[in-house]
Amino acid sequence: MSPTHDVIVIGLGGMGSAAAHHLSARGARVLGLEKFSPVHNRGSSHGGSRITRQSYFEDPAYVPLLLRAYELYDGLERATGRDIATLCGGVMVGRPDTPAVSGSLRAARQWDLPHEVLDAKEIRRRFPTFAPRDDEVAFHERKAGLLRPENTVAAHLQLAARQGADLHFDEPMTRWEPYQDGVRVHTAENTYTAGQLVICPGAWAPQLLTDLGVPFTIERQVMYWFQPERDIEPFLPERHPIYIWEDAAGVQVYGFPAIDGPNGGAKVAFFRKGEITTPETIDRTVYDHEVRAMADHLSGCVPDLPGTFLKAATCMYSITPDQHFVIARHPAHPESVTVACGFSGHGFKFVPVVGEILADLALTGSTEHPIGLFDPARLAAPR
Ligand SMILES: Cc1cc2nc3c(=O)[nH]c(=O)nc-3n(C[C@H](O)[C@H](O)[C@H](O)COP(=O)(O)OP(=O)(O)OC[C@H]3O[C@@H](n4cnc5c(N)ncnc54)[C@H](O)[C@@H]3O)c2cc1C
Repeated sequence: MSPTHDVIVIGLGGMGSAAAHHLSARGARVLGLEKFSPVHNRGSSHGGSRITRQSYFEDPAYVPLLLRAYELYDGLERATGRDIATLCGGVMVGRPDTPAVSGSLRAARQWDLPHEVLDAKEIRRRFPTFAPRDDEVAFHERKAGLLRPENTVAAHLQLAARQGADLHFDEPMTRWEPYQDGVRVHTAENTYTAGQLVICPGAWAPQLLTDLGVPFTIERQVMYWFQPERDIEPFLPERHPIYIWEDAAGVQVYGFPAIDGPNGGAKVAFFRKGEITTPETIDRTVYDHEVRAMADHLSGCVPDLPGTFLKAATCMYSITPDQHFVIARHPAHPESVTVACGFSGHGFKFVPVVGEILADLALTGSTEHPIGLFDPARLAAPR
């Protein structure tokens, strides 16, 4: 029997929806299976905003992927007319030797990316909402800004559907197995066959990709929205950058301008302060003591922001031991299965280029993009 599809994509969140778009744009017959509804808020791709930037302090090896992601995000906006990227500029604040500042500078110099370094006085002058200590500086990048995750996922799904992809929601994969030259995928209702399988499981990686041998950690993260104490004007995106602020103790807080109008507040979060969880057991309640801890922290750096607490929401990170991604042909099934997971809390800015890479890997077996850093072999436990 001939396969029902060329490629089956599991998970239509950030990465899977981009893969479905790029695969179907190249003429592949695509089936996308998603556990929940389109653009849901139970994974990792919701909450209204994500930071994007080019001078990547995590590792300069990401820079070429970011340059391509910027182009693809631009094309996505033009193709769908959706509001996706707002390049309001961004600052990494901290002492000169903190990784966010020194690492950004390293990436900018290596790739010749436009930037400035501002001292504390200049930070206060340009960005009056910030209260840096005298020994803090800011790495400033004009091309940084924010992406809207829900609009991104919706745009990729829209294009994939227009290109003929079959997208099935509320139909989780229950299991799959190798079958003939490809794979057979089961759901509660159906069985499908295809030459290629692309698995983009987000926080479900520990369940769906046990055989990768990568020790993923799933973390509960909280996003907070506050309405500033006095005037919202200085927080609007025309005047306010995104920011990542690392204090002397290594605590990173990051935030956004007020993108939801004069009464929608501005979003902030701690970068790595989550408890270990699972998608089934995550506590979605946000407690008063958590809100107070955030408000206290902000009072030292963005003192006008914690005026009125508006709302909070939870989200999950899927973290690898070295916090770099996993994007590869599946080592145990290199002919037919491609995986993208372990985005470690910093994957969204790469979504469209990951979609492009997954289409390359599934359709041709290789990619011209530099993905050596994302090989799961670096992390797999010895068997
Ligand atoms: C609070 C927070 C802030 C973040 N901030 C940033 C930021 O500022 N910048 C940045 O670049 N990144 C950021 N990230 C990280 C980024 O959002 C993630 O790396 C990215 O969204 C991960 O996309 P994904 O496709 O892997 O996961 P998801 O979007 O969660 O997609 C996985 C999908 O798989 C589906 N699924 C699971 N099991 C099955 C199954 N059996 N069958 C079918 N479907 C299944 C799930 O329902 C889900 O839809 C942040 C993440 C969080 C949580």
